[in-house]
Amino acid sequence: MTVAEPYRIKSVEPLRMSTRAEREAAIDRAGWNTFLLDSDDVYIDLLTDSGTNAMSDRQWSALMLGDEAYAGARSFYRMRDAVRETYGFEHMVPTHQGRGAEHLISKILIKEGQYVPGNMYFTTTRVHQELAGGTFVDIIIDEAHDSRAQHPFKGNVDLGKLEALIGQVGAANIAYVNIATTVNMAGGQPVSMANLRATSELCHRNGILLWCDATRAVENAYFIRQREEGYADTPVRAILREMMSHVDGVTMSAKKDALVNIGGFLAMRDESILQRARELVVVYEGMPTYGGLAGRDMDAIAQGLREMVDDDYIAHRIYQVRYLGERLLDAGVPIVEPIGGHAVFLDARRFLAHLDQELFPAQALAGHLYVDSGVRSMERGIVSAGRDPHTGANRKPALELVRLTIPRRVYTDRHLDVVAESVIGLHQHREDIRGLRMVYEPPTLRFFTARFEPL
Ligand SMILES: *Cc1c(COP(=O)(O)O)cnc(C)c1O
Repeated sequence: MTVAEPYRIKSVEPLRMSTRAEREAAIDRAGWNTFLLDSDDVYIDLLTDSGTNAMSDRQWSALMLGDEAYAGARSFYRMRDAVRETYGFEHMVPTHQGRGAEHLISKILIKEGQYVPGNMYFTTTRVHQELAGGTFVDIIIDEAHDSRAQHPFKGNVDLGKLEALIGQVGAANIAYVNIATTVNMAGGQPVSMANLRATSELCHRNGILLWCDATRAVENAYFIRQREEGYADTPVRAILREMMSHVDGVTMSAKKDALVNIGGFLAMRDESILQRARELVVVYEGMPTYGGLAGRDMDAIAQGLREMVDDDYIAHRIYQVRYLGERLLDAGVPIVEPIGGHAVFLDARRFLAHLDQELFPAQALAGHLYVDSGVRSMERGIVSAGRDPHTGANRKPALELVRLTIPRRVYTDRHLDVVAESVIGLHQHREDIRGLRMVYEPPTLRFFTARFEPL
């Protein structure tokens, strides 16, 4: 059944079309790194769904209500009330974006030498854990590392792995457990309610805090409604509240689920953690009532938090991602299955089976997709995984992916048809794609600024 957009278009942003010769020059200038392309050189931008969402007329109106007082702004209280209503956390500290919240919670909860288990790493999350002296341990189920495994909740925590870690290092050496919802690096794969509940019980029985990366929790809630017994008739807003009842607090990048261009927050129940967050936020972000955001940003977030849990909105959001994924699957293109919540992930390992992982197949594929059609995507493989901070060796993730991320409410299905045709064409001529050599490598989060040359 066709699911059409539950909105109509009131304002448009014209796009620039480019020639293949222009794109070949642009990718060379960008060192074959799609992060280094200029927006002007891109036709359809699927680099990320972060901060690239279209705000509603109500959100644009809310900007005008922004209270720009330095302290105690009305906008802060409106955002705090929206967080209480949608997630159920009493306390909230705004941050400039998600990593600001990750920085604060890592500093607050991690003591040098402690472990921080999580259901697969996320780039910025792990870096802040490491900078705070922690060591990330992957406790996701094995199926998550297999792009073909058809498990409905590939984001689930493997309780056996968590239990084994607790037995091995002791609960006191675990700073907290961090559970991500629709796990980005696994292909946008959800966690089940049953798994969240069981993880919560295991943590709390051992006196360990359970924190959650709620950046894409609404998309996760929708998958629970679709796939988990007993939730088919439960509104997404109620599923989200139930999910959050199992965790002690969240880090959040409002640039994703919350339908805004900038912002984030840390939310929790515990007052002593709030107190520490308020002490630290003034050092790194801003006053505890704005945390690096303008009053108008906080008002746009407050409105976005209410729109994100609208059942029709989220049903269309997930439908659109599936639409692109199914077009590719029908043409035999290898992608991560099941199709995830915010993006379709090309499996570059199978797509470019003739390239060794050290030749950066996903990075090369992203570059060729851009040259072919002006579509910008992102590498999520060996480049994103970086190096082990202790040994300095390249981490070699099992998943070598190109992420085609769909911004919320931005592109039509016709745009996605253009993307699908380009990917399918590349797949038909995949033997022509050669690998890359890295010619510049920054010390951390290298995928943002590394440079490459074709071999
Ligand atoms: C984007 C993202 C973050 C980081 O948030 P920023 O707003 O980019 O700083 C953290 N976790 C997940 C799962 C994300 O997708």
